[in-house]
Amino acid sequence: MTPVRVRFAPSPTGFLHIGGVRTAIFNYLFARHHDGQFLIRIEDTDTQRSKQEYEDDILDALKWLGLKWDEEPLRQSTRVTRHREMVEELIERGAAFRCFVPMEKAQAMKEAEMARGGINAFRSPDRELTPKESKARADAGEPYAIRFKVPTLDVAFKDHVRGTVTTPAHTIDDFIILRKDGTPTYMMAVVVDDSEMEITMVIRGADHITNTPKQVLLYQALGLPVPEFAHVPLILGPDKKRLSKRHGAAAVTEYRGKGYLPEAIMSYMATLGWSAGEDKDVYTREELIEQFDLKGINKASAVFDEQKLEWMNAQFMSQVRDCDLQQMLRPEFARRIEAGQYPHGTGPMLAEAVRLLKTRAHFPVDILDKGGYFFEDPTELEDRKAAKKRLKHEDLPARLDEMAGRFEALQTFDEEQAEEALRVYTEELEENAGALIHPVRLAVSGMGSGPSLFELLVSLGQETVVRRIRTLAAHLRKHGTPPVPDDPEQPLPKIEPLG
Ligand code: GLU
Repeated sequence: MTPVRVRFAPSPTGFLHIGGVRTAIFNYLFARHHDGQFLIRIEDTDTQRSKQEYEDDILDALKWLGLKWDEEPLRQSTRVTRHREMVEELIERGAAFRCFVPMEKAQAMKEAEMARGGINAFRSPDRELTPKESKARADAGEPYAIRFKVPTLDVAFKDHVRGTVTTPAHTIDDFIILRKDGTPTYMMAVVVDDSEMEITMVIRGADHITNTPKQVLLYQALGLPVPEFAHVPLILGPDKKRLSKRHGAAAVTEYRGKGYLPEAIMSYMATLGWSAGEDKDVYTREELIEQFDLKGINKASAVFDEQKLEWMNAQFMSQVRDCDLQQMLRPEFARRIEAGQYPHGTGPMLAEAVRLLKTRAHFPVDILDKGGYFFEDPTELEDRKAAKKRLKHEDLPARLDEMAGRFEALQTFDEEQAEEALRVYTEELEENAGALIHPVRLAVSGMGSGPSLFELLVSLGQETVVRRIRTLAAHLRKHGTPPVPDDPEQPLPKIEPLG
């Protein structure tokens, strides 16, 4: 059997968009599933719009996603000579011809033909010129393009998503393969390159499906094997229009900047329009490779849902190694320390925040946003509702001071000892443990919920815990129990450090 070879062929006329990357993912998964090869071709023949910056962005994004390609990416612009040779070949075979009809005139002729009830395509009168006449006009300097002589038979190809697609020949123009200025068109370049890259399966967006019959005609006319095709339905925004920037869908690198993980993007984008036929949302790369199959591609367009992508990210947060998360957070962490935001911001505390909060975060930066208390004493009670509910007992200031004293007295401040101290004291008070668990959590973090309390206490350290509990006790003495104004518009008083 011929080995599977597929390609992703982006035009470097823009950044790699989140919608576009799905085509790359499908190609990659197909190649890996079949132990085949995944190739890249940079279709940079539009010299006006192609930019190195975009090419770099596309390759960086693919690398970041772990879509490793198997051969040096091929630049289409380096192949123009070869494309022209193949155009010549088509002329020699009588399958292409010089067309001297200017573009606007060709369009007008097509419209007239259609109005007359004839065929729905442009048929150039110049297809009938003898080679001699044609050459004479060209030699005389008359401008021309090379067009393909569309035969009369209908064109059919098998699509792995849509089944057999048949296009009546009378709807296909005698299309241009070499422009007036001597540049090959996309139609010509793609066929020559796919053929010489020995591509066996073309997986691309459904927006290309009208190009395929023309490409099949070119393969046939050149006597080349026709690859197989799979045209993947488009991705739509929530308004059912083709996904675009308007929907907030952006470049892959922008998602990267927002803290999306490559594994999450892979899992979400792969399952957008493809399913393994089971009730499952989250896939690792290995599972995707194992299960990917063209049969699982839906015929209907898929709708992109950024919230689902965010959810997916949260699913993968716990799988990222702590050291990698620390690495990702370090620049922002340093920036906040620089800005004076984190007086207790140290490397070890960052490690603790990562360890305790990563399963509660959707994005890496959530660890900093939600875990400021790892790096500074709380300056306010952030959870107003919890503060109102949990800090209302009038004896709380005294109880908190007592609790702080008991924590301070512990020889070893570990989870077991801390928990024991709290339980013994609440039993003495004839209260549930919750009577102090919640106030202590509010004291040390300002939050109503968070990681396991005793783990958090140990992580923050004895001295910090004792200080923060005493600080809250003083705050309650000053502002009452609960320290929450009745007017919901009025902010909570700031917590001041102990004098
Ligand atoms: N360069 C084309 C594009 O970016 C893809 C062509 C193809 O896959 O055949 O849409």
